[in-house]
Amino acid sequence: MMTSTEIRQAFLDFFKSKGHEIVPSAPIVVKNDPTLMFTNAGMNQFKDYFLGNKQSPFPRVADTQKCLRVSGKHNDLEEVGVDTYHHTMFEMLGNWSFGDYFKTEAIAWSWELLTEVFKIPKDRLYVSVFEGDEKEGLPYDAEAATEWKKWISEDRIIRGKKKDNFWEMGDTGPCGPCSEIHVDCRPDEERQLVDGKTLVNADHPQVIEIWNNVFIQFNRLKDGSLQPLPARHVDTGMGFERLVRVLQNKTSNYDTDVFSGTIAAIETITGKKYDFSDSREAIAFRVLSDHIRAISFTIADGQLPASTGAGYVIRRILRRAVRYYYSYLDYKQPLLNQLVAVIANQFEHVFPELKQQEAFVTKVIKEEEDSFLRTLEKGLKRMDELMNPVRGKSGTIAGKDAFELYDTYGFPIDLTRLIASENNITIDEAGFEAEMQQQKNRSRAATAVDTEDWQLVHGEVPVTFVGYEDLNVPTRVTKYRKV
Ligand code: ATP
Ligand code: MG
Ligand code: MG
Ligand code: MG
Repeated sequence: MMTSTEIRQAFLDFFKSKGHEIVPSAPIVVKNDPTLMFTNAGMNQFKDYFLGNKQSPFPRVADTQKCLRVSGKHNDLEEVGVDTYHHTMFEMLGNWSFGDYFKTEAIAWSWELLTEVFKIPKDRLYVSVFEGDEKEGLPYDAEAATEWKKWISEDRIIRGKKKDNFWEMGDTGPCGPCSEIHVDCRPDEERQLVDGKTLVNADHPQVIEIWNNVFIQFNRLKDGSLQPLPARHVDTGMGFERLVRVLQNKTSNYDTDVFSGTIAAIETITGKKYDFSDSREAIAFRVLSDHIRAISFTIADGQLPASTGAGYVIRRILRRAVRYYYSYLDYKQPLLNQLVAVIANQFEHVFPELKQQEAFVTKVIKEEEDSFLRTLEKGLKRMDELMNPVRGKSGTIAGKDAFELYDTYGFPIDLTRLIASENNITIDEAGFEAEMQQQKNRSRAATAVDTEDWQLVHGEVPVTFVGYEDLNVPTRVTKYRKV
């Protein structure tokens, strides 16, 4: 059985042999792009090549890219740990053609890699092609279907809708039809087709999408219209952890050697045993081993936890993780920071930036945990008081109460929502937003006096991080810009 390290290398070697330049991952934190906070796909760093703003030094490139999908257009946070294949942070293996090869080669090579190098049985693979969308004036991707027919029988080619088979990075930018590859990991006896229908991704937890081949032909403009691009490109993304799961014959990404070291460390620290089940305890194991990667790599790439913007996204993930170990693993001390070393060592040869900043990242996480653990117990008690009167009655928590949890106990709204939903209770989200807005107005009024010649970027509240200043590293907390 191949290890995850060998699998990653085999991918890169394969595309190197097809004339691709192997390049490093871009940082997971996106700087200088107002449309995106975090890298959510391998193609982000190549956006300018697709738009024709810049010329790539190489017509063919391949890499493994650190991605994060917890905000904006791609937000998988709620699935994480509950299902077995959506992560917050994951590696996206990718190969690109910048105006060079197109559908013929891309499709042939993905087939060759999966079936000949990785030896995935052909009768476990399905592919999808874009069926077209008349309303949007988008054609059926007949070209891709023709290419696939060279390799796979027609009943394994599925037509997909715009939602899954037309790829867009954000509200604007390069886009085009795509062809997804799905692997059926169900045991043989369960693989009989039901009513002659093939099962794809969402239909069964063991039939998962592993690779997306995007054929970039258009640019979506702000007004929603599509413009053909000057040159056609290939942009592919394969979920590394999913590929490893398939090749290591596991039923969950968390059972592969990508996560086993972290899970073992959590077992040692908490004295609990991971039991692969759907229990809250097992979910906590999965959530922690997922979230620590997202937190560690974003901090290593320069995004500190903060109370606004991208930094708040990280703080939210971190607090969510703290609550999981506190409530479900019955561990009341800072835990996450103890896992940084495990991840740093595991990825030292792929993403050395974490190992290089191991002590710093550990310290930042520890301080964040200490700070949240100071209010968590009281916040959970308050949450109980708020839930008790409405428990079992599908009740609602008022906006002002959710705001109190946020303001006094540091509960991000998604954490309050998560705890409430575990008790079949909802939150008055609009009421919460209104309270938030009022607070913003209050603090704007309060800071107006001493910001005469400074202006807030994006109207954000100033953030200060007194705790990190002794660490002598560049931070990205400055939200002021001189005018
Ligand atoms: P899914 O339908 O499973 O949510 P997707 O269609 O949103 O995946 P793409 O945008 O096509 O994903 O990204 C390319 C590949 O990246 C996917 O085929 C999948 O293997 C992987 N991937 C996407 N999201 C995640 C995630 N949250 N965690 C792990 N891998 C992912
Ligand atoms: Mg998705
Ligand atoms: Mg999909
Ligand atoms: Mg996809």
